[in-house]
Amino acid sequence: MDPARIDECLGRFESLCRERGLPLTVQRREILRAVLERDDHPTADTVYESAKDRIPGLSRTTVYRVLETLVSLGVVRRLHHPGPNARFDAKTSRHHHLVCRVCHRVIDLESEDLDNLKLPSVSHHGFRIEDYSVHVVGVCGECGSKGLGIRD
Ligand SMILES: [Zn+2]
Ligand SMILES: [Zn+2]
Repeated sequence: MDPARIDECLGRFESLCRERGLPLTVQRREILRAVLERDDHPTADTVYESAKDRIPGLSRTTVYRVLETLVSLGVVRRLHHPGPNARFDAKTSRHHHLVCRVCHRVIDLESEDLDNLKLPSVSHHGFRIEDYSVHVVGVCGECGSKGLGIRD
């Protein structure tokens, strides 16, 4: 995300904290900044690596806890797809993902066709749909060019 957008998002987050009466701690601000600066859908550990030099004494536990707070405030999304670790996404508008099954890279995918899928009725499950996003599994360009992920 470019620096102007990052500042805009941090500004919006500041107002949100004021509205909710939540203290805007250095941890919250810098951890959000670390997620905003990356477009690779970082894991909590990657966020920790990015943020630790800016926040003296930062622990992994704090990163996990702050990420939970950011998710519950709706400023960061947790990706719900199977994978070894939870991934976080600062892009909260609807979009979809290409997921490499070899290196677990997650690439944003914009598609009007996928935005407008006609979902089946799920009322017989007693389920109420609130949102959806599609993840498409395959092999990324880099892994493909190294000949990884070939199935015989
Ligand atoms: Zn890959
Ligand atoms: Zn994304």
